Amino acid sequence: MTRSYRACTPLFVIVAAMAACTGRSGNSDQGAAMSGEANFTQAPWGISPDGDSVSIFTFTNPHGMEVRVTNYGGIIVSIKVPDRNGKFDDVVLGYDSLAGYVRNSPYFGAIVGRYGNRIAKGRFTLDGVTYRLATNNGPNALHGGLKGFDKVVWDAQTFKHDSEVGVVLTHTSPDGDQGYPGTLKASVTYTITPANEIRIEYDATTDKATPINLTQHSYFNLAGAGSGKILAQQVYINADRYTPVDSTLIPTGELAPVGGTPFDFRIPTAIGDRIGDDNHQLKFAGGYDHNFVLNRGADDTGLVVAAKVGDPLTGRILTVSTTQPGLQFYTGNFLDGTITGKGGHVHQKRDAFCLETQHYPDSPNHPNFPSAILRPGERYHTRTVFAFSVVKPQ
Ligand code: BGC
Repeated sequence: MTRSYRACTPLFVIVAAMAACTGRSGNSDQGAAMSGEANFTQAPWGISPDGDSVSIFTFTNPHGMEVRVTNYGGIIVSIKVPDRNGKFDDVVLGYDSLAGYVRNSPYFGAIVGRYGNRIAKGRFTLDGVTYRLATNNGPNALHGGLKGFDKVVWDAQTFKHDSEVGVVLTHTSPDGDQGYPGTLKASVTYTITPANEIRIEYDATTDKATPINLTQHSYFNLAGAGSGKILAQQVYINADRYTPVDSTLIPTGELAPVGGTPFDFRIPTAIGDRIGDDNHQLKFAGGYDHNFVLNRGADDTGLVVAAKVGDPLTGRILTVSTTQPGLQFYTGNFLDGTITGKGGHVHQKRDAFCLETQHYPDSPNHPNFPSAILRPGERYHTRTVFAFSVVKPQ
């Protein structure tokens, strides 16, 4: 398996385009000229288990890019973008209806909070007080607990500013929610831009010191959701180091160099090239499910390119930029054929990848990691951009 993805290389064009853009946020080829107007619609999408009305919003940009979002979990339900021939496909996994998301979702497209990824044994000590969280992943707390931000109905306010459209989602999480201290007022703004981008801005305030780590859990397949495995898609990650984990996927605390390991994505590499290597970190996770330490200066909180993924088949490129210090690269290792998603597609292991911009997992228990604590009077503000472009054949 290892060699075949290396051999499949009409991709030098993609690799070159990806390598050309490895510094600050930028986009390579926007494809189509402006042809329409930015717009949005809103429709009812059912009732949540708590009895709240749920809506679905459809946003279109002037190039015809279409993004659907529901205020249940702040989920991005679909993203339709063109390939190199102008053919639009939905590039994220999900369900056709609210019922699917409510019944059983591995966080498809959701906003994850209060704390994305794991906190060891659901426990941390802050200012001398030990807090116990709901545990929902073996011994650990994962993605905010039993009822995280992916399972609440957010208040939603749509907007249109010139050629940008989007929605501001707000949610207040009460003191003690899932064990976390403080009343946390969170907002997430999705903006769909004329540059075929989804800009995501996360904001929050609290009335007690608390850990916070909001992220977006879209499962991408640039060849189209339901088109099969993502093993031939080429990944670049702007990281010299990553955070190795133990067998329960909790960081050991080490910031290990990626050089000479299957975690070195500083040169674009097909996901399938090394995923089956005899490497104990890959074995712990059943593939990639690791946090990368993004390269940035110590005081740099600006937007940097975190990752780029290119699909040789369709020419689609996804560029993820962020102000965050880390990036979880997850290769759908726990998709196991038990989920029937949009269009009746059954999702198997490696049918999608996630690029979750974040603070490092389990930061509250690792004083050497950047702090993920928000205090009263401070404002949590982070930004992440998903930008879609294409590489044309040359
Ligand atoms: C985690 C995985 C987890 C997946 C779905 C990812 O963010 O890193 O371990 O299985 O989310 O919950």
